[in-house]
Amino acid sequence: MDKNIELYDITIIGGGPIGLFTAFYSGMREMKTKIIEFLPFLGGKVPYFYPEKIIRDVGGIPHITGEKFTEDLIKQAKTFNPTIVLEQRITGLEKLPDGTFLLTSSGGDIHHTKTVILATGFGTLQSVKLNLENAEVYEGKSLHYHIHKLNSYKGKHVIISGGGNSAIDWANELESIADSVTLVYRKEDFKGIESNITKMKNSNVQILNPYELVKLNGANKQLTSVVVQETNGGKIKELPADNLIVSHGFVIDLGPIADWGMQMRDGAIEVDHNMSTSIDGVFAVGDIANYASKLQLIAGGFNEGPIAVNNAKLHITPDHELKNIYSTNYEPLIKE
Ligand SMILES: Cc1cc2nc3c(=O)[nH]c(=O)nc-3n(C[C@H](O)[C@H](O)[C@H](O)COP(=O)(O)OP(=O)(O)OC[C@H]3O[C@@H](n4cnc5c(N)ncnc54)[C@H](O)[C@@H]3O)c2cc1C
Repeated sequence: MDKNIELYDITIIGGGPIGLFTAFYSGMREMKTKIIEFLPFLGGKVPYFYPEKIIRDVGGIPHITGEKFTEDLIKQAKTFNPTIVLEQRITGLEKLPDGTFLLTSSGGDIHHTKTVILATGFGTLQSVKLNLENAEVYEGKSLHYHIHKLNSYKGKHVIISGGGNSAIDWANELESIADSVTLVYRKEDFKGIESNITKMKNSNVQILNPYELVKLNGANKQLTSVVVQETNGGKIKELPADNLIVSHGFVIDLGPIADWGMQMRDGAIEVDHNMSTSIDGVFAVGDIANYASKLQLIAGGFNEGPIAVNNAKLHITPDHELKNIYSTNYEPLIKE
């Protein structure tokens, strides 16, 4: 092993809300901390799926947008300057004879750590891509897989492809902002929540189903129109389009982590009351951690992180008393 690889106390895999809060608490316990995240940004599912949704079920925060919540979590996570590594997918784990771990990424990067906290959610998130010629040419400019800023669609002709909750939600949200919204869905029956479907049907959203996208027209990454066709091969229509939003679902993949030999339950990693997995020194928190009465809620994960950190510290220094510390009286934070 390269002797220049720095050894960390705690390496958190996954920079979602739970990984971020865990990093904050790890700093409070004076652990040398690293977060490794696959995506090019932090925040996990919150900015990925619902930056503009209001979150109302985190104690003490009556309501907050996903975006602001993520911003605050990142700020808090950075309090003790953890090392943050983006765009690396951790795939390998090797336990060394001295009990420390080597983590490897799919790109071949290596990380050395005394303990590991998995905060991976159900794995890396990737949207199902539009399977049409040249689709990738428009990606990021006029073809999107998520909506980050609703107002950027002001005055635009927007086409939404999909028939699930997200597609319908977006159609309803954009109806009053965009110049026109057309929802194209290849099936007869929508999959979303009934009240949202009714709202959409009673709105100005133009609904074309069962239709599917067959061609994209444009130049310089900018769409000008899309061609849609009835799924039975019938009628063809060309629709003006400034933006295309594709909501065909997503793939969540835990990848090789599922083969590290940890005990699994219902696709998640089984943990005990210490958040410890069946590999000594490896802990799991957030959506990926499973135990009796587990709730996949952010508020629950915020308790699991500190439990995992305290036990990781105990793993590193077994004679170290496991203690509660309160941020109120924590010297480095008092200046705030
Ligand atoms: C549409 C929607 C709305 C929701 N609304 C609410 C709500 O209002 N209130 C609430 O409490 N909960 C809500 N949830 C659930 C909440 O988002 C999750 O419980 C929460 O995001 C779990 O956080 P996490 O950090 O465990 O995982 P995630 O948010 O999934 O983050 C995990 C991170 O780990 C990264 N990762 C995964 N594998 C690797 C790897 N091998 N290497 C490196 N990085 C990796 C991923 O890229 C991801 O960024 C909602 C979920 C959805 C989908």
